[in-house]
Amino acid sequence: MELNLKEDYHIHSNFNDHSPDDLSISNIVHQAEKIGLQKFAITEHVRKTSDWIPEYLDQIKSLNRKNLIVGFEAKILPDGSINCPQEYMKNYFIIASFHGLFKDKQQWLKALEIAIQNPDVNVIGHLGPETTFNLTEDELVHLAKLIVSNNKIVEINAKYHLPLIEWVKIFKKNGVKFHLSSDAHSLSEIGNFEKISDLIEIINN
Ligand SMILES: [Zn+2]
Ligand SMILES: [Zn+2]
Repeated sequence: MELNLKEDYHIHSNFNDHSPDDLSISNIVHQAEKIGLQKFAITEHVRKTSDWIPEYLDQIKSLNRKNLIVGFEAKILPDGSINCPQEYMKNYFIIASFHGLFKDKQQWLKALEIAIQNPDVNVIGHLGPETTFNLTEDELVHLAKLIVSNNKIVEINAKYHLPLIEWVKIFKKNGVKFHLSSDAHSLSEIGNFEKISDLIEIINN
């Protein structure tokens, strides 16, 4: 497979509380078009309690762009469920990510396996080990097979430089599909994959 450098499947907006004001939906779209992205996804951090979702969806839909994917990034919880209101899981692009809730490797693995098998999840976000553990090759092969059989994509994440190179090699060998994600939290980061040129090279060669 070949990664398309003109696609970015993970962009944040100012609907969260930690991105700059100029990261508005319309500015994201203008920036993406300025740099010639062919396809891009706005994937704001969501929680089950998020109250801004209708306004977010309205703003995106009103721009009416065919190459713009509407989605969310949601946390994988310790029981493997996804922290996103169920009504938005089905019809939107869902990135499921770990955001530092785990110390126990077996619990992490179990939660990840449940998330991979969730039919409403599209992508596993910035996949990598927690600071307290790494995975064995056997565990990575097992994960790769589960990812492939559940038709999930592993993103190549520029913000966190993840997955680890070794993980990418094992995933690639086992047929995992990838795409590119800037995980942009500012306009200048949109579609910028310079930091992960090493990972891109492994996948594209
Ligand atoms: Zn994330
Ligand atoms: Zn993100």
